[in-house]
Amino acid sequence: MQIGQYELHSIETGRFALDGGAMFGIVPKTLWNKLNPSDDENRIEMALRSLLIMDDKHKILVDTGIGTKFSEKYKEIYKIDHSKYNLTSSLEKYNLETKDITNVILTHLHLDHAGGVTYKEGNKHKLTFPNAAHYVQKKHHEWALKPSKKDKGSFIREDFKSIEDEGKLRLVDGYAKILPNIDVIISDGHTIGLQLVKISDGINTLIYCSDLIPFTSHIKIPYIPSYDIDPLTTIEEKEKLLARACNGDWILFFEHDPVTEAVKVEKTEKGYAVKEKVSL
Ligand SMILES: [Zn+2]
Repeated sequence: MQIGQYELHSIETGRFALDGGAMFGIVPKTLWNKLNPSDDENRIEMALRSLLIMDDKHKILVDTGIGTKFSEKYKEIYKIDHSKYNLTSSLEKYNLETKDITNVILTHLHLDHAGGVTYKEGNKHKLTFPNAAHYVQKKHHEWALKPSKKDKGSFIREDFKSIEDEGKLRLVDGYAKILPNIDVIISDGHTIGLQLVKISDGINTLIYCSDLIPFTSHIKIPYIPSYDIDPLTTIEEKEKLLARACNGDWILFFEHDPVTEAVKVEKTEKGYAVKEKVSL
């Protein structure tokens, strides 16, 4: 897909699984399980879908997947699987290696989004994208250094410390234009200072929804993951984004939906719904 000067591609970096109940909050399993079937441990499949944005000068990646640093036990609990998709082979399709990436926009530092920024060589964490500037919201960086007891298990401090130590951290303060036609929108319901990425040439617009709308199912307002630190803020932010997406005919790109990578939405009598599926 082309938006303005940029070519956009979906980059699948792997799969994992989380508890379906946790992903859909108060919604009963009888409803969510129809669209998102769970395994016998109640886990649902999750994509780890990054976005590649390219022009002549830039090879930009939005989020990096979960990475490869986990113990066998952890991999088993979360069904982390790189056999079908992985970062290296997905980039290869576009003749790219990790060293070619010039910019990494991290929507937030939860490990399923930022775990891929480093890999382990012995005991050392090395940067996966050694030549890239890495963009993180300032208030989110502060939060990740002192997380709450609810979400501290979602952060790997060595990841963001490595970015900083190598001089590759770029802190972004609020709404900002990262590059021409690429802006970030701030959202505080899922975590403090999550940045959604908006690519727009004034005619076509794509939003990388990250964990504000992780699956197609989460377009329905009450579908809110239990992971969110402030669900009422999530509702407000989701309604605002969906209204803008309807009015502007925006494409919503999903990081975690295992089947659908992107959609356009419409407002119906029953609330917001998928108008059409979009393929990049
Ligand atoms: Zn998250």
